[in-house]
Amino acid sequence: MSSTTTLVEPDVLTEVPEALKRLVRYASRGFYSTEHAIIIDMLVHHPCIKEDDLCELIKFERKALRGLINTLKTDKFVKSKVRIETTSEGKQSHHSYYFINYSSFVNVVKYKLDHIRRKIETEERESTSRASFKCPDCLNTYTDLEADQLFDMATGKFLCTFCRCEVEEEASSLPRKDARTLMVKFNEQLEPLFSLLREVEDIKLAPSLLEPEPVDLKTIRCALVRFSRGEEICEPSLCLVLQER
Ligand SMILES: [Zn+2]
Repeated sequence: MSSTTTLVEPDVLTEVPEALKRLVRYASRGFYSTEHAIIIDMLVHHPCIKEDDLCELIKFERKALRGLINTLKTDKFVKSKVRIETTSEGKQSHHSYYFINYSSFVNVVKYKLDHIRRKIETEERESTSRASFKCPDCLNTYTDLEADQLFDMATGKFLCTFCRCEVEEEASSLPRKDARTLMVKFNEQLEPLFSLLREVEDIKLAPSLLEPEPVDLKTIRCALVRFSRGEEICEPSLCLVLQER
């Protein structure tokens, strides 16, 4: 290979693909509250939004917003960056900007799904091995798998192996069916999610999407006015925002 090979890999995406956006929206609705999903919708639309703008757009109180965002940050679904801004009077202030953590997001979804699957499997196993026969005398319990050991040929009854008392069938063997239904439901209902996960499996996002530039909506609005007048916009992150409109 020649040394002049371009450094930019051809399969690196400079735009978030539709499948990934859909996955983000779907996952936010599946795993979080409606309020979280509203925030995520905003972050899909505005790649790196200022906290002030987010509060204004969705009409949430700052304290509530931060609580919701913190959950998403802890789950590695959302990331933040702080920018120090100087007003025209020379006053400095810190401003938080939020963006979707696309680099870890897919793994977060996989982890959550895996967690649910394991919970269902455990439930399934526990309900399968749950006692379904009980001796009324010594209170010893037996699973339905042990039923053949309890069966007494002579009497045709199920007898306790300790005290030979006739065992009673327990109602707790019922959830067994429920757990299986749950796994079927899990697989069926989440199929769109699995399908989207397969779609985004090997995608690579450009650094500009993984660590997007902070965008102040006031700046966008000013730029929009200039853009509509046909003036040139030199900030690359703004160009992207404007193209999306
Ligand atoms: Zn017994």
